Amino acid sequence: MTNKTPITIAYGDGIGPEIMRATLDIIMAGGAQLDIEEIEIGEKVYLAGNPSGIAPSAWESLRRTRVFLKAPITTPQGGGYKSLNVTTRTALGLYANVRPAVAYYPFVETKYPGMNVIIVRENEEDVYGGIEYRQTQQMTEALKLISRPGTEKIVRFAFEYARANARKKVTCFAKDNILKITDGLFHKIFDEIAAQYPDLEHEFWIVDIGSAKLSDTPEAFDVLVLPNLYGDILSDVAAQIAGSVGLAGSANIGDVAAMFEAIHGSAPRRAGQNLANPSGLLQGAVLMLLHIGQIEVAARVQNAWLKTIEDGIHTYDIYKEGVSREKVGTSEFARAVVARMGQTPVTLPAAKYGPAGSTKAVAAATKAAAPQKKTLVGVDVYLDWTKGKPDDLGAALATLGGDRARLQAVFNRGTVVWPNGLPETFCTDHWRARYLAKDGGTFDHGDVLELLRRIDQAGYDFIKTEHLYNFDGLPGYSAGPAS
Ligand code: NAD
Repeated sequence: MTNKTPITIAYGDGIGPEIMRATLDIIMAGGAQLDIEEIEIGEKVYLAGNPSGIAPSAWESLRRTRVFLKAPITTPQGGGYKSLNVTTRTALGLYANVRPAVAYYPFVETKYPGMNVIIVRENEEDVYGGIEYRQTQQMTEALKLISRPGTEKIVRFAFEYARANARKKVTCFAKDNILKITDGLFHKIFDEIAAQYPDLEHEFWIVDIGSAKLSDTPEAFDVLVLPNLYGDILSDVAAQIAGSVGLAGSANIGDVAAMFEAIHGSAPRRAGQNLANPSGLLQGAVLMLLHIGQIEVAARVQNAWLKTIEDGIHTYDIYKEGVSREKVGTSEFARAVVARMGQTPVTLPAAKYGPAGSTKAVAAATKAAAPQKKTLVGVDVYLDWTKGKPDDLGAALATLGGDRARLQAVFNRGTVVWPNGLPETFCTDHWRARYLAKDGGTFDHGDVLELLRRIDQAGYDFIKTEHLYNFDGLPGYSAGPAS
């Protein structure tokens, strides 16, 4: 192979430089053909006054090579510093986060010897937009965004990944018994796309019981596809119960670019002491080699690493008397892996990657559905109010509907408190009044503005509105009371 693939690397902070040097030594000894560009990110860049932790010039390298091997960075304490990971993922459109959680029993202690789970986490949506508000003395709010194209991309990616990597089953977790519209859409799209992959099993779990099952019987899962927040939490749980977060790498994949890293942080207390385990970043680098098509190199490196683990050459974090043979530092571990290049493990299954066994993004092949007919049928008006009981508020707001709107209900934190509320219900200062167009009719913007004007003139502090739309006649909003 003579063609070198250009990649961008960053040595990061804390243990970053040591584990990056070790990782590069290993993959180059494995025959990786790379043209390496280095950029600076992290603590120094933050402290130099750049709140994103990355200099504008570094983007130029990332946009050119489109492949980023990144060591962990330290995010300085205190406000104003944005998460570089979130910025990189969203700016480069890295919508899929792939995190294998694999047990290396009996060489690394775990309660789950057979565990081998791939978590595919959605990377761009959910609450990670960080869109939050405070509108009253008492209440704060965050927006959870789940879109059809965002979900189609990640779910299709999970099925394609499963197929390309000879996996058998894709499982989805969500909470659509409560979040019927957002998580409901994720579940619905999972079912739609699963039907296009009849060669793969699929199953759906509510996230609470699914997580309990994952922590208790991880062997029951194969590929998991999860919305962003559940994926964030459960991929750390999965890595930890597989053996150690220090052994896990991750890939962030988009249609044009990809980033590879360890899942752990910069462990500042271990920095500069030749102690850290480079395995997490090395696992990220193996995912990178697969992604850029250097499949044989990936297998050679992975097998040499497995043999090293199997031979009991362990860094302090996984060293165990009686199981391990030699406690080594970062650079000695790297040398041990290099010395085993060309060998394969004896007990652990050797790595074999098919030609397509990579982490390539899949262009969303789903055709856009015909747009549905959207009609405005009402409005939820949110109020900051502390002046009395729910019945007082309901009775007063009911007089403000005018000719076109009818007050259907008043809610506090999702509970109907008017009409027929219970005196026991705890109420905050954050109220929601649901007005529907009279006689099952429709609204226009003018009706909403007139209603708001009346509410304002009656002296109420309205703090936001949410429009209630039907799509092809079906409600696109959470249900109110039966009426
Ligand atoms: P951490 O992952 O850095 O460390 C947690 C624990 O694991 C520590 O006890 C550490 O000693 C140990 N550990 C981590 N990696 C290890 C390795 N390779 N070998 C041996 N032991 C290892 O998490 P933290 O202490 O919460 O965070 C430290 C810094 O890292 C923070 O500034 C945080 O913002 C940052 N961080 C960065 C990333 C990233 O860049 N992707 C991810 C997580 C945290």
